[in-house]
Amino acid sequence: MQEQERDRIQPAQILMRLTRIYGPFESRPHGDPITELVLTILSQNTSDTNSGRAFMRLKQRFPTWDELAAADEAEVEQAIAAGGLAKQKAPRIIATLREIVNRQGSLDLSHLAEPRLRVEKAREWLMSLRGVGPKTAACVLLFALGKRALPVDTHVHRVSARLGLIPPGMNAAKAHAALEAIVPDRLFYAFHIALIKHGRRLCRASRPHCQQCPLLAGCPEGERRLISGDYASAQLSEAFSDA
Ligand code: SF4
Repeated sequence: MQEQERDRIQPAQILMRLTRIYGPFESRPHGDPITELVLTILSQNTSDTNSGRAFMRLKQRFPTWDELAAADEAEVEQAIAAGGLAKQKAPRIIATLREIVNRQGSLDLSHLAEPRLRVEKAREWLMSLRGVGPKTAACVLLFALGKRALPVDTHVHRVSARLGLIPPGMNAAKAHAALEAIVPDRLFYAFHIALIKHGRRLCRASRPHCQQCPLLAGCPEGERRLISGDYASAQLSEAFSDA
């Protein structure tokens, strides 16, 4: 390991420091993979508020997922209009549900919850559905089924790249595999939630608040900003040391 990499903050340390300000994080899988699938498609490129609103309206209009699978596209589009990109999301949701029914004979995905089914097999099955990418598959596995998968959304991706956990410019598909290889799998849930909170509050896309960040000591991007004077009088805080 090169000296620079040795000095770099490791995932378990990152989580320890972030847990102090955002934690604790407790995983409670809800056991409903279809709901998670629909929610994740609705959440693409929009805020939680908007996707939550779209989900509520969708459930009001189609109380069961079977009704949604049989629905008319225009009606679904209208129901989820509040979530944005309804023209793309409505056909995607319907096509995904219908494909599951075609394969399984119903919307029952309990075979994915089978404890003996390896997470990679479950992921492969989900990703073989058209329109289901690595993030959606990982959300279903982690949040619905409690399987060890690490979803990489825009915040997790950006913060991980700034911390030097993944190379700059690595695409989201590769970032899933790269992060799952270095984050201990028992920490996937906590790591995902902690980095999302951090990305929203301090490590924002534009003008991250590195001066207040407990990860500054060990963050290559934060240190680069410190050296280049992107902000004034930043100091490494001993209050957040791992000792
Ligand atoms: S030091 Fe700055 S760039 Fe690094 S994680 Fe913290 S806020 Fe993000």
